[in-house]
Amino acid sequence: MKQILMIALFAALFCGCGNAKNNESVKTVNVEEFTENIVQKDVRLIDVRTPKEYAEGHLAGAENIDVKAADFAERIKDIKGTVAVYCRSGKRSMTAAEQFAKQGCTVYNLDGGILAWQKAGKPTSTVEADIFSTPSGKLVKIHALMHSSIRIEYDGWEIEIDPCSNLRGRTVDYSAMPKADIILVTHEHSDHYAPASLNQLIAGATDGTQVVMNSRCVELFGWGEAMENGDRMQLAEDIEIVAVSAYNTTEGREQFHPKGRDNGYILTLDGLRIYIAGDTEDIPEMAEIKDIDVAFLPCNQPYTMTPEQLIRAAKIIMPKVLFPYHYGETDVSGIPAQLPDVDVRIRHYE
Ligand code: ZN
Ligand code: ZN
Repeated sequence: MKQILMIALFAALFCGCGNAKNNESVKTVNVEEFTENIVQKDVRLIDVRTPKEYAEGHLAGAENIDVKAADFAERIKDIKGTVAVYCRSGKRSMTAAEQFAKQGCTVYNLDGGILAWQKAGKPTSTVEADIFSTPSGKLVKIHALMHSSIRIEYDGWEIEIDPCSNLRGRTVDYSAMPKADIILVTHEHSDHYAPASLNQLIAGATDGTQVVMNSRCVELFGWGEAMENGDRMQLAEDIEIVAVSAYNTTEGREQFHPKGRDNGYILTLDGLRIYIAGDTEDIPEMAEIKDIDVAFLPCNQPYTMTPEQLIRAAKIIMPKVLFPYHYGETDVSGIPAQLPDVDVRIRHYE
């Protein structure tokens, strides 16, 4: 018995040094325990594999920060609180877990990685997610569904922007998603306003969902709250919406989105300011749009902006993070190099 204890003690001493498994702030857990923890509020789920591996399928809602990338330390330096990490088999995520633990995070590390996850019959997703923190540290998770359709999770709120379930062969299954608490619709074009998707997200419970649209959509849908350009609405103590202008300026294209009809929105979640531009060109009103943390700017002529216009708009607004969206066939790959002071993130918003 004594001998066993000695061996155990020796093993603990020997392996304890630098082994995060014995570090109190890193918990290596099985699939079941990992699942229980990642659904908790304010837990950041991070896939530390390469962008290519992530694109092929990841845990729903995971953001991608490649532990082998040169900027890993820089990208995680402001992350606090609880994180859940995984990789392919559990090796790379342990390296990441140790780094998170070093900066004071509590870490759940998935034993066996995504291989164990899949072996347990758990689903994966190809929808990309980006996670932001509000000034008071609440998490905002933005899911890139497609084209103009954005899903935002914030502190227990489900927010859907321009939900469309079917576009050019791509589909989003809203019936499998949580019911929406807030839905914002910019205008009545079919790549923004889809009554079938709205009905799925509302699921008959009209008292449970706040639907905010431009007035034409409210007229068509027969229900919802209309906002005009310049209107402000407080949806909760920490959730505010301002409707802003969105229209065409190029001669001969004004009829697509005439001035005053459609909305862009500035959505403020606990101080985090998100600008969803809607279908617009680079209009003079953008000079009034300030202190934006996350901006969505559309990019596809003849309906919205060329990449050059989008770059011009971004230089006026100067958001911290920019998602070019609504870009269809337009090549947006050159945009990041033109905006060195903005964190431009290209997601699947074709
Ligand atoms: Zn439109
Ligand atoms: Zn559109």
